[in-house]
Amino acid sequence: MSDEPHFRRLALIGVGLIGSSIAWAARRDNLVGEIVCSARTEETRARALELGVVDRAVATSAEAVAGADLVILCTPVGTFGKVAQEIGPHLEPGAIVSDVGSVKKTVVRDVGPHIPDGVHFIPAHPVAGTEQSGPDAGFAELFDQRWCILTPPAGCDPDAQARLAKFWEAMGSRVEIMDAEHHDLVLAITSHVPHLIAYNIVGTADDLEAVTESEVIKYSAGGFRDFTRLAASDPTMWRDVFLNNREAVLEMLGRFSEDLSALQRSIRWADGDALFDLFTRTRTIRRRIIDAGQEVETPDFGRPHGGSDD
Ligand code: NAP
Repeated sequence: MSDEPHFRRLALIGVGLIGSSIAWAARRDNLVGEIVCSARTEETRARALELGVVDRAVATSAEAVAGADLVILCTPVGTFGKVAQEIGPHLEPGAIVSDVGSVKKTVVRDVGPHIPDGVHFIPAHPVAGTEQSGPDAGFAELFDQRWCILTPPAGCDPDAQARLAKFWEAMGSRVEIMDAEHHDLVLAITSHVPHLIAYNIVGTADDLEAVTESEVIKYSAGGFRDFTRLAASDPTMWRDVFLNNREAVLEMLGRFSEDLSALQRSIRWADGDALFDLFTRTRTIRRRIIDAGQEVETPDFGRPHGGSDD
C-alpha cells in the first residue's frame, strides 16, 4: 500500500470491465483519494455504486471530470471524440487526461483537439482483458504483470508522463512507451487479427449446414472452443477497434492471407516438411510467451482436468 494517494480524484468515463478493474486496483493500493464515474445507463451507474467500486456515479462525463486531477476514458473507442468534446471545457488545469482504448492513432486524432492548454493528454492502452463486459466483470488483479503502453504525443510534459506511468506500475502493470502508429501495427497482429480470425471461424462453423450445430458444440474440445473465448468478446468494443485500426489490420490481414495460401498449397501438394517446419517454429513462440510471464505453464490453458469440463 502506498502512503500517499497518487491522485486526489480519479474520474472514470465508463465503468465496464476495464474501468471497474482500474477502480478496484486503485482502491487496493490506495492510489486515489476519490473515484467518480459516469456511464451511459442508470443501470450501470447504480451497479457500480452497489458493488462499491466507485464513491460517486454521475450522469454526465462533464460532471464526472469536474475537480478531477486524473481522467481516464474507459468507453468504446468510437465514443471518444464525443466524450472529449463534452469534457473539454470542464477539465481542471494541470489534470491528466488518458484513456484505455485498444487503438491509439484515431484516439490522438479524435481526443487531442478537445484538450485545452494546461491539461496533459497521454493516451494509454493496458494490454489486459477478458471476454466479459460491464462493472461486474472487473477485478483488481487484471493488470498484474501485464503491459500498459503509453503513447505520449510530441511535446508531452515529462512529469505528467512519469506520474501516469507510476500510477499504472502501482496497479501492477509494466509500462512501455510507444509511438501511436507503431502501437496500432503491433496490436493489429497480437490482438486485432487474432480476434478477427476467431470471429470468422466461429461464424463459419455457425453457417455450416453439413455439420449440425449440436456437433460443433459437442466436439468443440478439439480446438474450436479456444476460438470461442475470443469470439465472445464485446461486439461494440470490437466493431470500434476494426473501424479505428483499418490500415494496420488490413496490412496484417494481407500478410496473413498470403501465409494461409502457402499453407493451403503445402496441404494440396502433401508437403509434410513445410507443415512440420512451421508447426515446430510456432511451438517455440508459446514457450517464449510462458517464459515472459504472459501465460501460465499449466496444460490446456489451466483448465481443471478430470472434471466435467473436458
Ligand atoms: P465494457 O465492459 O463494455 O464497458 C464499457 C463502458 O462504457 C460501460 O460503462 C458503458 O456504459 C460505457 N459506454 C458504452 N457505450 C457508450 C456510449 N455510447 N457512450 C457513453 N458510454 C458508453 O467495455 P470494456 O471492455 O471495459 O472496454 C472499454 C475500453 O477499454 C474500450 O475502449 C476498449 O477498447 C478498451 N480495452 C478493452 C479491453 C478488453 O479486453 N475488454 C482490453 C484493453 C482495452 P453502459 O454500461 O451504461 O452502457
